[in-house]
Amino acid sequence: MGTVAENIESIRRRIRAAAERGGRDPEAVRLVAVSKYQPLEAIREAMASGQVVFGENYLQEAEAKIAALGPGLVWHCIGHLQSNKARTAAEIFDCVETIDRLKLAKALESRLAELGKSMPVLVQVNVGGEAQKAGVAPEEAGRLCRDLQQFPHLLLQGLMTMPPFVQEPEENRGCFRQLRLLGEALAAQGLLGQHGPVQLSMGMSGDFEVAIEEGATLVRVGTALFGEREQAV
Ligand SMILES: *Cc1c(COP(=O)(O)O)cnc(C)c1O
Repeated sequence: MGTVAENIESIRRRIRAAAERGGRDPEAVRLVAVSKYQPLEAIREAMASGQVVFGENYLQEAEAKIAALGPGLVWHCIGHLQSNKARTAAEIFDCVETIDRLKLAKALESRLAELGKSMPVLVQVNVGGEAQKAGVAPEEAGRLCRDLQQFPHLLLQGLMTMPPFVQEPEENRGCFRQLRLLGEALAAQGLLGQHGPVQLSMGMSGDFEVAIEEGATLVRVGTALFGEREQAV
């Protein structure tokens, strides 16, 4: 494991190579640096390497970090959000990737309307179908996307998924492909794609290259960038 600067450089290289293997524009893939349980110092190192987009799972932790690090960064919520936390989430985040039910969307919309703030959001899909994972079932994603159209401050940009934990990244290729095909199907029905190209947030430290080959536009990378987290998740 190198320094954060070295890790970012190497991840960026691997992102480019994977995009080229998939016949895609490397510029169409954005790195979300997952900074949960990482100290401010590690985030500052990433910032010094030009990293702007960060992902956080826990509201209190995110709130403290966002306040400490000041403006100029882009914060994605990638953790499960309870509806009673939606007000704060609407205030502090720039994007919520984990919309998985109408109630949460309503609560976000209500606070965003008060703030006069629009926010890009993604619908989280449970492609692996694991009982303990958040996200809507693939066959319910269309309905949620349709319901989201009524909320003017939520800019629905695409889909996010967190596939089952596997030993070999190749084992997740099918899940990633499924998310891409779902995104294409929903765009064909006019349910996605109104706010720019459909975004697909998929791939983490162990499998982001496979995800990019399958169409990821956002990869959420934590340990490969920052090293092990200070606390078990
Ligand atoms: C923690 C987390 C990640 C990053 O995982 P790594 O394996 O450390 O890269 C990505 N996405 C979500 C939703 C996470 O909770």
